[in-house]
Amino acid sequence: MKKIISIIILMVLIITGCSTVEKPNDSSGEKLIVYTSFYPLNFLAEEIGGTNIDLRMVIPNGVDSHDYEPSMKQLKNIEEADIFIYNGAGFENWADKLIGTIIDEDKALKASDEVKLIETNGIADPHIWLNPQNMNKIGEKIKDRLIFLDEKNKDEYEKNFNELSKRLNELDNQFLKKLEHKNKDAILVSHAAFAYMAERYDFDQISVAGISPEQEPSPKTIANIIEIVKEEDYEYIFLETLANPKTVDIIAEETDLKTIILNPIEGLTEGEQTSGEDYISIMYNNLENLKKALVN
Ligand SMILES: [Zn+2]
Repeated sequence: MKKIISIIILMVLIITGCSTVEKPNDSSGEKLIVYTSFYPLNFLAEEIGGTNIDLRMVIPNGVDSHDYEPSMKQLKNIEEADIFIYNGAGFENWADKLIGTIIDEDKALKASDEVKLIETNGIADPHIWLNPQNMNKIGEKIKDRLIFLDEKNKDEYEKNFNELSKRLNELDNQFLKKLEHKNKDAILVSHAAFAYMAERYDFDQISVAGISPEQEPSPKTIANIIEIVKEEDYEYIFLETLANPKTVDIIAEETDLKTIILNPIEGLTEGEQTSGEDYISIMYNNLENLKKALVN
């Protein structure tokens, strides 16, 4: 796969080299073109940039973000970006290869550079957006970058960021408050997406799959989890919205666990989009379900 991406990038570069070079944003009054790799970062840019930016998202909603490979046309289009915001920490392997080739380094904004990373078995965990305080830090960086490139809309970017920051702080406070008196200290999850949430709100995640939802658990892992569940008196196992529930179903059947949703917000489902859900509303749903599993 690495080879294929390299070839695609090379082809894009050749095509780019042959076309006339356009200067982005040389006429005043044109909006900044902001590319984000996936939903949580797109949410931040949308809230802060509002109608002052031309916002585009690479990984569409409803697909598995870990697995996504952009098309050649998409890669070519990203070249127009004034800012390219991506997660890093191994979440979008294709994105790192764009920096310094299709995207100048000074146009990239790598969200994972702004927060303290958690490592599992020596590998950085990419799911940084599931701690609202991390979203605050990344949002502030996006705001600063927008102001740097588009000074005339400074007041609006400041105002939008302050409002967003207030909502994220309130979300964080609600998590702290509602999970304060928990009487269980761990949750069972289908994929290990919740380390940042678990660290912030002081619980553990026991996962069926690895950091990426495609990692199929071995029969031994499944047997271990069934053992843990029987010993520890768990009531719920968390499913997520965009992943395959097969393994979780096996465990739930073997153990009489109830399945419940914990959403890693790696993209919105069609249903979530039509009902107007966003990062913050989904996080509040997550909180309600966490309360069921941790507090009773
Ligand atoms: Zn994930």
